[in-house]
Amino acid sequence: MNVAEQYGCLVFNDRAMKTRLPKVVYNSFKKNVASGTPLSLADANVIANAMKDWAVELGATHFTHWFQPMTGITAEKHDSFISPSDDGAVIMNFSGKELIKGEPDASSFPSGGLRATFEARGYTAWDPTSYAFIKDKTLCIPTAFCSYTGEALDKKTPLLRSMDALSREALRVLRLFGNTEATRVTSTVGSEQEYFLIDKEMYLKRRDLVFTGRTLFGAKPPKGQELEDHYFGSIKPRVMEFMQDLDETLWKLGVAAKTRHNEVAPAQHELAPVFTTTNIATDHNQLTMEMMRKVADKHGLACLLHEKPFAGINGSGKHNNWSLSTNGGDNLLEPGATPRENAQFLLFLAAVVQAVDEYQGLLRVSVATAGNDHRLGANEAPPAIVSIFLGEELTAIIESIEQSSAYTAKANEPMSIGVDVLPRFPKDTTDRNRTSPFAFTGNKFEFRMVGSSASIADANIALNTIVAEELSKFADVLEKAEDFTLSLNALIKESIKKHKRIIFNGNGYTDEWVEEAERRGLFNFRHTADALPYFVHEENVALFKKHGVLSPVEVHSRYEIMMEHYIKTIKIEAWTMLDIARKEIQPAVGRYTQRLLGIARSKKEVELAPEPECSIVQKISKLAVELYERTEKLEEVLTQDAPSTTAEGMYCSGTVFPAMQALRETADALELVTAKRYWPFPTYGDMLFSV
Ligand code: ADP
Ligand code: MG
Repeated sequence: MNVAEQYGCLVFNDRAMKTRLPKVVYNSFKKNVASGTPLSLADANVIANAMKDWAVELGATHFTHWFQPMTGITAEKHDSFISPSDDGAVIMNFSGKELIKGEPDASSFPSGGLRATFEARGYTAWDPTSYAFIKDKTLCIPTAFCSYTGEALDKKTPLLRSMDALSREALRVLRLFGNTEATRVTSTVGSEQEYFLIDKEMYLKRRDLVFTGRTLFGAKPPKGQELEDHYFGSIKPRVMEFMQDLDETLWKLGVAAKTRHNEVAPAQHELAPVFTTTNIATDHNQLTMEMMRKVADKHGLACLLHEKPFAGINGSGKHNNWSLSTNGGDNLLEPGATPRENAQFLLFLAAVVQAVDEYQGLLRVSVATAGNDHRLGANEAPPAIVSIFLGEELTAIIESIEQSSAYTAKANEPMSIGVDVLPRFPKDTTDRNRTSPFAFTGNKFEFRMVGSSASIADANIALNTIVAEELSKFADVLEKAEDFTLSLNALIKESIKKHKRIIFNGNGYTDEWVEEAERRGLFNFRHTADALPYFVHEENVALFKKHGVLSPVEVHSRYEIMMEHYIKTIKIEAWTMLDIARKEIQPAVGRYTQRLLGIARSKKEVELAPEPECSIVQKISKLAVELYERTEKLEEVLTQDAPSTTAEGMYCSGTVFPAMQALRETADALELVTAKRYWPFPTYGDMLFSV
């Protein structure tokens, strides 16, 4: 593949638009996008027609509005371009109206009570800030998805709203620093994606993987990740072929796949793209996950995107690298070299620190799913407590500001923290910390709590909105200030004083940190069911409303959807466990017992001691009885009713989940005493070392 030539060849990008659109239409399109004003129908018709011609030349026969409902994945409904003509032939047609708006039946998408089924109509609206592309011979048009009455039913709508809010408030602050050029501030994101690859045939034999994406049973294999021999290890040929194919597929789709490597756990890998604007990054991450699955399948592999496909070894996350950039290309989280830039940087830094402290619960909620519960707080993942890692130097600077004392840079170059002489510091001195959920990494923050299978939209909606809020509060003060510099420094100092409790540079995996965090009054929502109710707290509802990101009705409906999703996930897992335990494990163990008893009997016939068979049978029988009891128990708790969604969520986490754990414990013990050829499905050892 000639990468430079083929990169983005399946995308109706700026280059394609420039060559295919009349200059006036192209210009007015660009103007509309920049100012956020709607396109005229005449222009839309011209663009639609050019898009169609382009797509048909590349073999496309259909188009679809590609959207991101609350399921967390993408949705598409294809329509062909054909339009029959009188002479029995067809012409290929695509109108501006079809480009701009679609009206899919929305009744089967989660709406959290927003839309009764009798008002089933929803509509999709073109997001011209994310390019159309071709996938499966279908022209895909990225769209937002709303109810007939205008409520957001998707993840893109609030994401775009949150980007607008952030831009608005950040521009207010920039103006105060004398920046008159920037007209837009965009949050940028590069999301590193972790995943597992296992052999497809083994995958298909594991109904837990097929139904739930994670193994519900499986004893610890003799070898896991103890030797740390997988991380950055040389890539096996079959995996390499997959990675090359995946990169090429993504490049054609304009996804800038950049980094690939083996991760810590056996069979675990990572892909990272070059960062881009938040909404494109979100679309691209969805495409990346879809292509990972498809390309894996082509290579006889199964790609597991679940946060914890295997118990006891590392799970997968999605490191959401986040920063702010002006349309002039200035990164606002770049410390910079001049004091003036530093002051501006420090204000933006303070806004992020304050946002994360005040809305730590909201960030926790934004990553709360049943899958991620297995990961947050487990050994390799950031804890469920939100804190910020700033690194030694930045922390020292912040402390010196707080105490109005002089800051001495590492190189012993004295620097004063005066009113208008803020310190300069080199970016490279920020050290690395792998245990922090929210780490400053030089010129961006890395939010590491996002789950590997989740859309990154939720985390970024939260991040954009909470930072917009703090910038708005700062701007309110500074716009009224009589002495800007004085107020600015007072503001930064006060903010740091008030919110430094969220800064933690130590090891987040220790028990001491959990205690320390409690002393500092930080939240520790261990489970999704504990975290989600916080979403609808008054201050959060007000926050989303103030910035026009989500209306109170939308917030409540999203809460319902998230909690229901959690409940359904737990229940599907529980029913799958019951099914596998009863129909696969119990019978397999019975067959093995029978075999052992047969051997014991034969031994007796020739007057040999029937050992060790009898002892093994005894062990197995005890466990088999326990397995039976625990399946009965699980079924019993599963069939209870709860009075409300919230209560049901708590019940799933407090009662159903422990019953599942208990059942698993017994099944895993049985696996360890059952002969390999009797065990009904591939084991951890088989799967993790299968490729
Ligand atoms: P690290 O090794 O610390 O993870 P990398 O340079 O490899 O850092 O970057 C990781 C991810 O962060 C990449 O996806 C990269 O594109 C992204 N990234 C870099 N700069 C920015 C930025 N300004 N905004 C958002 N993401 C960024
Ligand atoms: Mg990283």
